[in-house]
Amino acid sequence: MKSINDCVSNSSSCNYTCDACSYTCDVCGHTESGIDLCMSDVKMFSCAKCGRTIDETCAKVPDYDKEEFTEVLRDIRFEVPAKFCPFCNMKALADNNFISYVCIKFGITRESILDEIKKTFNTYDNFIKYLVESKSK
Ligand SMILES: [Zn+2]
Ligand SMILES: [Zn+2]
Repeated sequence: MKSINDCVSNSSSCNYTCDACSYTCDVCGHTESGIDLCMSDVKMFSCAKCGRTIDETCAKVPDYDKEEFTEVLRDIRFEVPAKFCPFCNMKALADNNFISYVCIKFGITRESILDEIKKTFNTYDNFIKYLVESKSK
């Protein structure tokens, strides 16, 4: 396991160092933050193809690939080939892709949806209340 000090002193291998780093898994929303943290410290990485951030849990690497995955993480640390990416393998759907698809499929636009929301709920608070209440049903 790598320590934060290791990461800072060896920052050429760490793509992202900053005073307060924060990484969020684009699949589940899991967030890790801290000082001078790099992705490998929090077992997150990004896809070499789509650039999305994924944590180890969401990568769901099959057993036969585990060894290669561990090697890639050890050598490159923050970027993995697309074969390990849930988005590039259609195991997860990114929000922006989801929205684009639904809009095209149903012939709607962001503007028309916003208009409808405005007419229906009047205020942002009412709208969020509706979302929260509908979700818990
Ligand atoms: Zn995740
Ligand atoms: Zn990807």
